[in-house]
Amino acid sequence: MKVLKFGGTSVGNAQRMKDVAKLINDGEKKIVVLSAMSGTTNTLVEISDYFYKKNADGANEIINQLANQYRKHVEELYDTEEYKNATKDFLREEFEYLHGFSKDMFTMFEERVILAQGEIISTNMLTNYLKEQGANVALLNALDFMRTDKNSEPDPVYIRQHLNELLEANPDADIYITQGFICRNAYGEIDNLERGGSDYTASLIGAAILAEEIQIWTDIDGMHNNDPRFVDFTEPVRQLHFEEAAELAYFGAKILHPTCVQPAKYAGIPVRLLNTMEPTAPGTTISNETERGKIKAVAAKDNITALKIKSSRMLLAHGFLSKVFDIFEQYQTSIDMVSTSEVGVSMSIDNTKHLSDIINELKKYGTVTVDYDMCIICVVGDLTWDNVGFETLATEAMKNIPVRMISYGGSNYNISFLVKKEDKKRALQALTDTLFKKN
Ligand code: ASP
Ligand code: MG
Repeated sequence: MKVLKFGGTSVGNAQRMKDVAKLINDGEKKIVVLSAMSGTTNTLVEISDYFYKKNADGANEIINQLANQYRKHVEELYDTEEYKNATKDFLREEFEYLHGFSKDMFTMFEERVILAQGEIISTNMLTNYLKEQGANVALLNALDFMRTDKNSEPDPVYIRQHLNELLEANPDADIYITQGFICRNAYGEIDNLERGGSDYTASLIGAAILAEEIQIWTDIDGMHNNDPRFVDFTEPVRQLHFEEAAELAYFGAKILHPTCVQPAKYAGIPVRLLNTMEPTAPGTTISNETERGKIKAVAAKDNITALKIKSSRMLLAHGFLSKVFDIFEQYQTSIDMVSTSEVGVSMSIDNTKHLSDIINELKKYGTVTVDYDMCIICVVGDLTWDNVGFETLATEAMKNIPVRMISYGGSNYNISFLVKKEDKKRALQALTDTLFKKN
């Protein structure tokens, strides 16, 4: 069985919901994970904010606006009075429930209950629509199987057992619909997997049922091999290793969050990124397979500061690096790139909150130089060291760009360059021209 997840914009209005229904109603058995309609979770956050501030009027006004939007969606979505009325009744209860929070004390427990309603509403609406269309659909309540433990980490054993029980209780359905993002915590309270958590839900469900694949549907064309905002001729990447995807995500590529795909990665289940606007396009598949000898994609991370500490006296003494790194640890600043020589070490950071303190401390051990406004260019692909020639291809592409640091060998999948911010566009284009352009 496959797991398909649709994000907020994919169910953002009545027409988009109809498109999703058409896409999933093909007779194949599947689990469908939905986000709240786009904007709804933000609105629920706003409503909670008014309740926290004890401004019930403010909250009620926003709730009414939201209710009006949903009334319009209902008119546009359903054909029959029967389903219009059933959904209106359901929504009336939902919005009355939200208004009811004005009477009580408001804490984060109440907020989490409010935040959960976006997904509860979208899944009920789509389920009703599919029923109206005659589909064989079952709504599975995520609060009955999605659970976190005392460390707020998902509890895979609980999830597997309870999800399978629910599936067995509804053996005849073709389409199982469930909510992304929401869960119960170790104390049985309504909670969530943090903002954007629907991808995580899909990955956890995929791992729990050992799905054939997990599909993440958005309205972009999978993952591109370079940033189309800066580079001419980018193309979708068809396949990525989970670790390649994680490197790219860290460097800001619009792709799944690495922790969200972890359950799928460990269970060896491929994750496909697909486009609702172009459902037949192949998209990007992320899996545990490496395409040998291929450089896949380039990403860049801005606002990087480079620090160099030079010390002819101390570097060869053991313990020098550890003293240097301790300073960063002390100021809770993580280091992205490191490059060492006999006489010095260069590091890059992106959090400059404690930069002046760090520099002051570093000066105890050597001469410190700082370069501001730098940018890390990360090249991702099959870059294992015994695979000759590929790091050379990347450095060759950078031959006309001043490079401050190079980092290679930290993983099998990446080589990174630190360049000046003003050289970023030129560097990205040069990499595309050398690595990806077919003549
Ligand atoms: N609705 C939630 C959010 O907006 C979860 C999600 O869409 O993934 O963060
Ligand atoms: Mg999302």
